[in-house]
Amino acid sequence: MSKTLIFGHKNPDTDSITSSLVMANLEKALGNDVEACRLGKINKETQYVLDYLKMDPPTLIDSVEDGADVILVDHNNPMESIDNIDNVNVKKVIDHHAVVLTTGYPLYYRAEPLGCTETVLYKLYKEYGVEITKEIATLMVSGIVSDTLLFKSPTCTPMDKEVAEELARKAGVDIVEYGLEMLKAGTDISDLSVDEILALDAKEIDIKGNKVLINQVNTASIDDVMKMKDALEEGINKAIEEKGLDLFMLLITDIVNSNSQTISIGKRADLVEKSYNVVLEDNTALLKGVVSRKKQVIPVLTDNA
Ligand code: MN
Ligand code: MN
Repeated sequence: MSKTLIFGHKNPDTDSITSSLVMANLEKALGNDVEACRLGKINKETQYVLDYLKMDPPTLIDSVEDGADVILVDHNNPMESIDNIDNVNVKKVIDHHAVVLTTGYPLYYRAEPLGCTETVLYKLYKEYGVEITKEIATLMVSGIVSDTLLFKSPTCTPMDKEVAEELARKAGVDIVEYGLEMLKAGTDISDLSVDEILALDAKEIDIKGNKVLINQVNTASIDDVMKMKDALEEGINKAIEEKGLDLFMLLITDIVNSNSQTISIGKRADLVEKSYNVVLEDNTALLKGVVSRKKQVIPVLTDNA
């Protein structure tokens, strides 16, 4: 039998990468033949973690054979997964997102409304009695810091914080110091092209029949990113045309002050204005206190669509 492939979503973030590694380690400890994989490029934040641990990234794949066994982590939405997701055998899902996937067969499905897949995985390690090594603890704590923006995101639960603090002790890191360095490493976009920035953390979703792409870029300075506004708008308009989008919402998220500036373009840009009670001037508006796409953007746009 061939190996079960474990991967997170396309445009992988730190949670998707670390969770595939952490889940692979758990499965191996349980005697299963698996391989940690990824569906895209390692971002700078995740690279910081891998460099810190002197660890290789999961195997890059762009397709899997029909009929292959796979385990999904940090996602379940087919739109964010491999293209032939309907033709593979999803054995397990470990996630913390709304359930979208349907299968015609039974599977192991573990999702909890927590801030990070790693917090779910931490519980699984405890349940199976598998040791959390220093290295695994570092991967886990990195995922939690990333997804919760160091506990500032409204998606962060008391459980995420408690688990992360225990993992930080095990990893031997000062969570604020390590976490800020890691987050900052992820905000360096100085050598990226506009197209790369616009694809960094892009999620394409259907909101009541509207094709919406929401891309989030973390920064320590909104002004620095807004200096590129003209070029970003050009790239956004190109993406709208190429993908037939009804709305492209770029979120430039200030990880220090917990606000987002949006550049929103498309025939449904009114959704952004309605949802946040703002007026887009030159396609842009400040969304105060908005840092979480999952909790403060997707459901809010959906309610107002
Ligand atoms: Mn993710
Ligand atoms: Mn996640």
